[in-house]
Amino acid sequence: MPRIRRLHRTLLRTLPDSWRRTQQVLNVDFPVRFLIYVGIGVGAGWATQYGGQPACLFGLENAAELASGKDAAMPGTVSHEVAHLAHDEWRRRRGLRGIVGPSGPFWQLYEEGFATECERRIEDPRSFRLRTGRADWLPWCTRHRAWLAAKFLRDAGARRSMRPFFGSWYNIRGHIDSGYYLGQEMVREWTETASLREVALLPEPAVRRKARLTLRRWAEGEHTLRKGARVR
Ligand SMILES: [Zn+2]
Repeated sequence: MPRIRRLHRTLLRTLPDSWRRTQQVLNVDFPVRFLIYVGIGVGAGWATQYGGQPACLFGLENAAELASGKDAAMPGTVSHEVAHLAHDEWRRRRGLRGIVGPSGPFWQLYEEGFATECERRIEDPRSFRLRTGRADWLPWCTRHRAWLAAKFLRDAGARRSMRPFFGSWYNIRGHIDSGYYLGQEMVREWTETASLREVALLPEPAVRRKARLTLRRWAEGEHTLRKGARVR
């Protein structure tokens, strides 16, 4: 309970500033409802509609249970969830399906990658690095990018559950959220040749095709560069 109280205070303290920075960086031009509640529900942060309006739900009990419940990660949760809402709003305004309709592993990689790349741009990079509560998370993911890309392609191809990449209660070799890392790297790379807005408005088939190609290129790079090398 003291942990939940502390998280509540941290969230109340950091939310206005994080919301303001997110509005500026992403040009958010619609109101967002923020709801803070206690109880294990949908997750530490959830972007949805509430009372017919875009809303962010923050589950304090869930946040306290997770590694991402680190106080330093709370502003990142705010910008991440608002980024999902902006992504959804922009797509629907353009006559595309929002982010909830499409599904599948490559879509999830893109959707979470988009929000995570926004989070990285909006927040202090140090808090992005700490999003899982482990200082070695980003270095580990970076070292294993090709291996993770190959595993993602294999698991998606075999229709295995992608929860180890995205689920907070799952991990890959002790590391949670590696799908957020992979997706963020992918979206960041795509924004080298397109604006963030253009990437946000890609048609669904293009998203899936580009995601496959990007992961394949990374996975093959690993094969050529580190042939025979064992992934630890
Ligand atoms: Zn997300």
